Amino acid sequence: MSLPPERLDRFARHIVLPEIGGVGQLALTRAHVVLVGLGGIGSPALQYLAGAGIGRLTLVDDGRVDATNLQRQTIYGEADIDRLKTDGASQWVTRFDPALAVDGVSTRVTAENAPALVKGASLVLDGCDNFATRLAVADACVAAGVPLVSAAVGRFQGQVANFAGHLPGHSCYRCYVGDAFDADDCDTCADDGMLGAMAGWAGTFAAMQAMRVLLDGVSAFGDPQWGRLHILDGLKPGMRTINIAKDPACKACGSASAAQDFIHP
Ligand SMILES: [Zn+2]
Repeated sequence: MSLPPERLDRFARHIVLPEIGGVGQLALTRAHVVLVGLGGIGSPALQYLAGAGIGRLTLVDDGRVDATNLQRQTIYGEADIDRLKTDGASQWVTRFDPALAVDGVSTRVTAENAPALVKGASLVLDGCDNFATRLAVADACVAAGVPLVSAAVGRFQGQVANFAGHLPGHSCYRCYVGDAFDADDCDTCADDGMLGAMAGWAGTFAAMQAMRVLLDGVSAFGDPQWGRLHILDGLKPGMRTINIAKDPACKACGSASAAQDFIHP
């Protein structure tokens, strides 16, 4: 299998990179990414995932475009105000590259509907704005064995990490934040403010980290860096990295969890 000739030019600058190459580009083309949150992180992440030729994109968000979004949510313009974000984002993808398959799902992610949304995905990139959704998505990823790229941003700081809590010895997002936020719809963006370009940095970095996961075992750029949390500081500026250890008592991926009981009865 190889890319059709009409697609080679589009991805020529990827293919020429030894770390990606034709084999890596083909893997990206075959990937299915579920993007949760089409806001300040999701917009630039979507632009670079689509640019990388991710063959199938599922776009999940229950919001509509607001004038206050335009300072950082780069896929929308004035004409999109009051539209569903899933409609605006899907239209952006179709205009950008009609060869990509895109589905918009305008729904609030809950513990009930998350398993169906993440099922079968190559990975999930979560850039949503509240902990309840993040934990629902993260738990569903662990249960379904789907890698998670988690990205968050506020003011001048961003956090991006890849999680594979379904794999032995690797932490999940719940190992990092614990159980305190399950019922807390903690959207502080409106109160605290956010530098638009900071969301761009976190979103594009999340797209890069997603590509490391998708190319794991395929080409040299594939290095998923499970459980390594990258903290982006836009004021200094700089980046530091910490390890998130697996919590043996974690409700989602720990040794007492239902998933582990199923694997080790
Ligand atoms: Zn965990």
